[in-house]
Amino acid sequence: MPNHTNNPKRTSWIGYSIDTHFPIQNIPFGVFLTKDNVITIGTRIGDYAIDLGALQSMNYFKDVPLTDDMFMQDTLNDFISDGKKTWRLVRNRIGDIFDKNNGELRDNKEHRDRIIFSMDEVEMQLPVLIGDYTDFYSSKEHATNVGTMFRDPENALLPNWLHLPVAYHGRSSSIIPSGIPVHRPCGQSMPAGADSPVFGPSKAVDFELEMAFITTDANKLGHPIPVDEAEDYIFGMVILNDWSARDIQRWEYVPLGPFLAKNFASSISPWIVTLDALEPFRTEGPELEMPVMDYLKSAPRKTYDICLEVDITPENGKKTTVCKSNFKYLYWNMSQQLAHHTINGCKVNSGDLMGSGTISGSDPDSYGSMLELSWKGEKPVKLNDGTERTYIQDNDTVTMRGFCKNGPVRIGFGEVKSKILPPFVPKARSKKTN
Ligand code: MN
Repeated sequence: MPNHTNNPKRTSWIGYSIDTHFPIQNIPFGVFLTKDNVITIGTRIGDYAIDLGALQSMNYFKDVPLTDDMFMQDTLNDFISDGKKTWRLVRNRIGDIFDKNNGELRDNKEHRDRIIFSMDEVEMQLPVLIGDYTDFYSSKEHATNVGTMFRDPENALLPNWLHLPVAYHGRSSSIIPSGIPVHRPCGQSMPAGADSPVFGPSKAVDFELEMAFITTDANKLGHPIPVDEAEDYIFGMVILNDWSARDIQRWEYVPLGPFLAKNFASSISPWIVTLDALEPFRTEGPELEMPVMDYLKSAPRKTYDICLEVDITPENGKKTTVCKSNFKYLYWNMSQQLAHHTINGCKVNSGDLMGSGTISGSDPDSYGSMLELSWKGEKPVKLNDGTERTYIQDNDTVTMRGFCKNGPVRIGFGEVKSKILPPFVPKARSKKTN
């Protein structure tokens, strides 16, 4: 099944600026609510959201084998379950419909009015029902920085790290789309020098710059996915801000790992960019420093060159870009992560989300968390308005962006943007009277 949506020369009859993240070569998938309160599956070109449910109901997909209501759903899980062949057929067809030289929809105003919405008329939703969420720890620079700060600079990486992609199972119920604000969590922590823990709002709310991939049904229970086939089971990727409360994390994480410091919220960008769209940006990852077992031996060029940026914007203030990193810095690639995840026979379902772990590079301005940027609070980060941050303050907005560019076409993810609110205060309960 050829993938002909990536032709950089193709243009669309929907206009967009040269630096858009969503040219006709992207064709991401998402779910949105229209101004008429209809939830639908859609795609995006430039600043326009395209209702794929409406396109399907008007017969524009008649030559693609799809169930009748494939796009009239509130999640992409069934579409993702249909597999790579269907994803390609649908993307190819969408590319053709919006090609500058194709008049079938371009010249039909009545259809256009029912199918195309300005992005500011729609509200993006979570694109998939996420059954399971796994978070890896695959940046060697991040793992080394954290090990240096909290354990021993001489032995910053734990002995397993270069042999397997370390991960933990997270929680999917608190994964939210871009735009939803997050309350500062409360919890237990052990202040430095204290001999008993205290309870209160976290004083160390942090972002983690990550990307995540979304899988299709990949295997039966008991059947590992070979590393060379893993990419066939990856539908696409999003940007992930894996919110973390460092003070809660430090006290609670032994011996079983992250828990409440990590599951109060994780924010994702709402458009899933397919691996097919990312194909022109395939690149080499870092060289392995240690031979790995056969099931983790991956062919070269199994990662992608994706520029990543993080801004902090104080309330009513100007943004400051505090981090510039790249997905290609990760030591373990997605194929190795999925092969390792299933080597014991663990089943992976359509809509599962796999986080990369914080993506840090070697330069201090590429560190993907405040923990590292401020070196656990020892080196505050200066913002453009003159204020300083060690961690994220109430009413700060954190924005992460990601895009690929190596020629005339830019393929982007848009952004994941969320504001930290003060701790949630329950309303005083009125006393029950009889
Ligand atoms: Mn994380």
